[in-house]
Amino acid sequence: MAAKKLLILPGDGIGIETMAQVRRIIDWMASAKGITFEISEGLIGGAAIDAEGTPLPERTMELANAADAVLLGAVGGPKWDDLPFNIKPERGLLGIRKRMGLFANLRPAIVFDELADASTLKTELVAGLDILIIRELTGGLYFGEPRGIETLPDGSRRGFNTLVYTTEEIRRIGRVAFELARKRDRRVCSVDKANVLECTVLWREEMIKLRNEEFPDIDLSHMYVDNAAMQLVRNPKQFDVIVTENTFGDILSDCAAMLTGSLGMLPSASLGAPDAKGTRKALYEPVHGSAPDIAGRDIANPLATILSFAMCLRYSFNMDAEADRIEEATRAVLRGGLRTGDIMQPGKAKVSTSVMGESIIRELEKLG
Ligand code: NAD
Repeated sequence: MAAKKLLILPGDGIGIETMAQVRRIIDWMASAKGITFEISEGLIGGAAIDAEGTPLPERTMELANAADAVLLGAVGGPKWDDLPFNIKPERGLLGIRKRMGLFANLRPAIVFDELADASTLKTELVAGLDILIIRELTGGLYFGEPRGIETLPDGSRRGFNTLVYTTEEIRRIGRVAFELARKRDRRVCSVDKANVLECTVLWREEMIKLRNEEFPDIDLSHMYVDNAAMQLVRNPKQFDVIVTENTFGDILSDCAAMLTGSLGMLPSASLGAPDAKGTRKALYEPVHGSAPDIAGRDIANPLATILSFAMCLRYSFNMDAEADRIEEATRAVLRGGLRTGDIMQPGKAKVSTSVMGESIIRELEKLG
């Protein structure tokens, strides 16, 4: 079997510390299970600016293009805040997403029972929650043309944007949603505003067509975006996979993130088109940033980065069993009462980034 090529980009701040815990898990997988990856490591963000004067060196892009998947920590920090906009660390992140052609953003909202009371919603509404929001990332209202602000003959001004999707753009994001639903509960809810916006009438029609043509085993439902926002906070567990337009997805995925209540626990992925082997370009990263306020102190929560690695195993390397084990180990560590500072609760034991990493490995050992 061909080697699984993984590019690791720790980035800046706590990205370096949380990624070190993933490296330990990878080392453990090699020594205890004989599972190996072909790993490369590169620079991005502030670290790349310091070393090479640019937030996204060409060497990093070469490594990304040669890899099956990229795992990223976080970028940014006060050291680089005063740089011009186009060479800030965050440009490295936007640049790599764009140059890898990533058009599907995956944001799971998973609530571990032990942390359910961190949510602002009632515990019983969110305990055991496991939903996946898929947001179209490169089209729709955020990129549609024409756009702008113009001055009218009477001197007043008019601002305008265009909501636009082609059938191909709709079908490729639909395909991602249906494929991923096959790894879950096989239910997709397509969110649109087809009662008002023609573009999303087309979205709905194409989703139905695609489902009938290629994914008859998937249960497809539709919901207007205003209702979806209400349902997410009323009864979030009714969903399995949600797929939606760029702007709607931006808003709904942040809403879903808050259902979990803890930034240090949230993984994400962005996927591109499949290559000749059927492997999609993919970038996995925690939702949080580089957290300069706590960086370098071994107190950050590494679980969002570890869970991003689990997503990478599941979606890029088809290693569902190993991904399940990492998620199960995470659950066991939380059940055992260990917490980093951000998710600390009364009566629990506060541990460092590295102890959290070690504890995950100890649980993986127990799971065999
Ligand atoms: P942030 O996510 O870095 O931090 C927000 C707050 O949450 C901070 O108080 C931080 O200490 C805490 N926090 C975040 N992750 C944590 C973790 N794993 N464990 C414990 N606590 C955690 O967002 P910010 O403060 O707005 O931004 C800081 C820097 O990160 C900025 O330079 C920003 O541009 C950058 N940023 C990068 C990304 C990314 O790389 N994807 C995302 C957001 C922000």
